[in-house]
Amino acid sequence: MIIVDGHEDMAWNALTFDRDYKRSALETRAIEKTTSIPAWNGDTMLGWPEWVQGGVAVVFTTLFSTPLRWKKDPWDVRCYADASEAYSLYRSDLAYYHRLVEEHAEKFHLILDKLELGITESAWRKAEDEERSVGMVLLMEGADGVRSPGELQEWFDGGVRILGPARAATRYAGGTGEPGPLTDLGRELLNAMADVGMILDIAHLADDGAVEALDLFQGSILVSHTSPLALVPSADKPERHITDNVIRLTADREGVIGLLLGNRFLKDGWKPSQDRNDVTLAEVATGIDYICQMLGDATHVGIGSDFDGGFGLDKVPQGLDSVSDLRLIGESLDARGYNQEAIEGFLGGNWLRFLQRALPEN
Ligand SMILES: [Zn+2]
Repeated sequence: MIIVDGHEDMAWNALTFDRDYKRSALETRAIEKTTSIPAWNGDTMLGWPEWVQGGVAVVFTTLFSTPLRWKKDPWDVRCYADASEAYSLYRSDLAYYHRLVEEHAEKFHLILDKLELGITESAWRKAEDEERSVGMVLLMEGADGVRSPGELQEWFDGGVRILGPARAATRYAGGTGEPGPLTDLGRELLNAMADVGMILDIAHLADDGAVEALDLFQGSILVSHTSPLALVPSADKPERHITDNVIRLTADREGVIGLLLGNRFLKDGWKPSQDRNDVTLAEVATGIDYICQMLGDATHVGIGSDFDGGFGLDKVPQGLDSVSDLRLIGESLDARGYNQEAIEGFLGGNWLRFLQRALPEN
């Protein structure tokens, strides 16, 4: 079975905490034990050996920086004051991925088109573990690094295939913690994205921006990492979650929704002071099942773990000890009566089918 994860912040971790994802998550945890990194971002969930053991062949990996007004602490070094600083930070994320695939092609490669996606799939179906190279689809989270819509082609040529206009608010749209609609520049950006063939990620758009984008955007749409608002109605940032309306509209546009695997996205009222084990794979199954029941089909939901995206091992469900455990979600879905075909769809097939349609030919 091929597993696909719709959201992991590799570059941000590598460039903020010097995390080396070529080594195993367990090794990184041991190395970081005497540092402050676990206090800032938790114990890592990610490492090349774990992707391989878990059969995680394809990952949407992000370029991501934060506006200075959201800087948390001195360790939070990837912050920008204006569009030109954002551009530099996002370019350095891109350079990180290019360096990684140039120096370690045996472990990581970029997926830029349908052809490379197909090659990755067939290689993982037959290769030995030590021969597996993780395929990365580059996702730009927050569009402030794009100085103007006219610059999008440059990012596409650099390998970026998915763009989320907002994280916090950007010049293009309201976002998490700062909800609001698309701006005029944001509407211009959506037109430019459709022209170059960039996929739209509406994960951090607030409800009004998401609804407008679903109507306006001419290209392919996904939600890389989110959870249904109906399951976490007391969330302190409701705009971070996805309404029933947006779930339906996304499916109408043939989009796929990645379920985020942080505990507070899965169980209403869960607090970081609580035991991680208070949330289990049963809640993960509930999140997937909620979307399927509403839509009446099993083809529009996948995984968007957001592992290492501001939280670590202590904030994910019992049973998920690293990214290699994603396949265990299948067991809790089996217990809900889902058949093997549907389970393979949730764990990877739905994302693969989406990418086979949305990526450029070659
Ligand atoms: Zn995010």
